[in-house]
Amino acid sequence: MKKTDCLIIGSGPAGYTAAIYASRANLQPIMIQGLQPGGQLTTTTDVENFPGYPNGIMGPDMMEDLKKQAERFGTKIISGFVTKVDFCNKKGDYHKIIVDEKDTYMSKTIIISTGASAKYLGLESEKKFMGFGVSACAVCDGFFYKGEDVVVVGGGDSAAEESIYLSKLCKKVYLLVRKDSMRASKIMQKRVLKTSNIEVLFNHETKDIIGDQNVNKIRVINNQNNQEREIDATGFFVAIGHKPNTDVFKGQIKMDSSGYIVTKADSSLTDIHGVFASGDVQDSVYRQAVTAAGSGCMAALDAEKYLSEFE
Ligand code: NDP
Repeated sequence: MKKTDCLIIGSGPAGYTAAIYASRANLQPIMIQGLQPGGQLTTTTDVENFPGYPNGIMGPDMMEDLKKQAERFGTKIISGFVTKVDFCNKKGDYHKIIVDEKDTYMSKTIIISTGASAKYLGLESEKKFMGFGVSACAVCDGFFYKGEDVVVVGGGDSAAEESIYLSKLCKKVYLLVRKDSMRASKIMQKRVLKTSNIEVLFNHETKDIIGDQNVNKIRVINNQNNQEREIDATGFFVAIGHKPNTDVFKGQIKMDSSGYIVTKADSSLTDIHGVFASGDVQDSVYRQAVTAAGSGCMAALDAEKYLSEFE
């Protein structure tokens, strides 16, 4: 069993920023990285909107830099997944965390930065072809569809970004948008619309994903006139948003109806003493790397303040 003052769960921009601040404050934090070390940005390409990078930076490179920065000040990084938590609501007491069902950590403060994961449509065929044509990450899997035709679903920035990425590899990209307009930022919409091998199909939804071993057709429906058609495509990329990674905390901490952890206004405080939340796990609105990093900083400062009450 390991004891510490500060344990950080999750290794995205929020977790690493919390680690940098907590380690510089000499809290000697332990970070449990989670299933996707580095978080969502490790599956993206160019990050052009994080301040301080005038030429942009690749997502995985940015996360590697953040990791090095956290380690430089003494953060101990553990590769593992939190499988159980037992939060104690007595001020100053230790919370219990089980990693990989076997290792026990006791910590006076916990910073939850577990982020969010990709959502899927919920079709049976989507499950059937997962890894055989269906993906939620163009950067991870786009390479396999080089020179082929693919379909992307969604109307937000993720769908726009994935379509643009795939357009550079694939012969043709069909983007299915269920409404008559996209939710993506204007600049991303403009890039999509001016890319010659992206065809945006507004008011279109997915009826089925068809194939033998691998995907070879997508049946779509125009929700205005109910006309169906089949698109020949070997890849199907789902980019319809995310779900907070909070299953392990259910029943232990206050969440909203979508499962996002509720924090007190202008702070990272949760309803449990000594447990703080930062990044996408508590933010269904902004969901940006820079806002996640900012809230990671807040969580570390809140944890430090909390611990100082017991010195
Ligand atoms: P969003 O929640 O912004 O968008 C989800 C999209 O998927 C919406 O267009 C929605 O449609 C559509 N959708 C949802 N469910 C379905 C369904 N069942 N069938 C078909 N379509 C569906 O998620 P994103 O992942 O795109 O973005 C999340 C956040 O991350 C945003 O704030 C975004 O700005 C940011 N982001 C920024 C990037 C960047 O700056 N480089 C890159 C990627 C994301 P509808 O509009 O009809 O609800």
